[in-house]
Amino acid sequence: MAPEHLRYAALDVRMAMEALTYERAHSYRKELPESAYETWQPRKLMQVLLDIDPNADRDSSLRIGREQTYGVPATEMQDLGHETVLNMGKLKEHYNALGSYLHMPTLKQLQADGDMSLGKLRTRVDEIIAYVDAVLSSPIFTINFGTFSTAPCSRCGKGFRWRIPRDKDRLHAVCRECDAPYELIVTEDRQVRWEPKQHPIKCAHPECGEISFLWEDQFEIGSIWICGACVGHNQIVRMNRPINEDGTPWQPDPSPPSERTRT
Ligand SMILES: [Zn+2]
Ligand SMILES: [Zn+2]
Repeated sequence: MAPEHLRYAALDVRMAMEALTYERAHSYRKELPESAYETWQPRKLMQVLLDIDPNADRDSSLRIGREQTYGVPATEMQDLGHETVLNMGKLKEHYNALGSYLHMPTLKQLQADGDMSLGKLRTRVDEIIAYVDAVLSSPIFTINFGTFSTAPCSRCGKGFRWRIPRDKDRLHAVCRECDAPYELIVTEDRQVRWEPKQHPIKCAHPECGEISFLWEDQFEIGSIWICGACVGHNQIVRMNRPINEDGTPWQPDPSPPSERTRT
């Protein structure tokens, strides 16, 4: 590769890393939060995938075979192939480093290196090309296996599904449509119980006092909610209240002022 072509090669392999990450993300499209669609930085996007599935950037092999006994893996397996995945480690190693070659060198770099160190860039580009080749020539592509639980959201009514990793028995899930939070509890027989994260709160209108259940994400300071019983507006505020030395709520002294002992 002629030196004058190196910068263009750097741009191309950088875009290849983006394309491979976007393709990987596409296979998680039913689980991706809406905001991830605007993420263009591959490392950030890959982190979202890893939060969804810790195996999202791992290589894998696929083998099939007929079970002789139900539930016991077959003794004879046929290999279907191996998938090499562009992983987070490679993205961290190369993606940002390539970016620095796509700008003019700073005065400091010029003083230190003369021109930028094109030899280093060539080694890096060659290494990435070999890696991208391995990813693209994988006989199987974007393998994405998982166990999922599906339920309708009790706040917005839309159904959504959540990945249930084998080693987890408690998960935090968020509705993709309305952000309603849930706790997912995996029982011993691998059934999944969806518990809305709601907490009881008393209407602050003195003539009402009705208990309502607010979603955890509605407990933000300043948020307003309307009581279902009296239709009164309530606002969540940060409060400063008087307490006793032992932490119990302070109560005003009910005796007339004349009888109070001065301290
Ligand atoms: Zn919802
Ligand atoms: Zn009320």
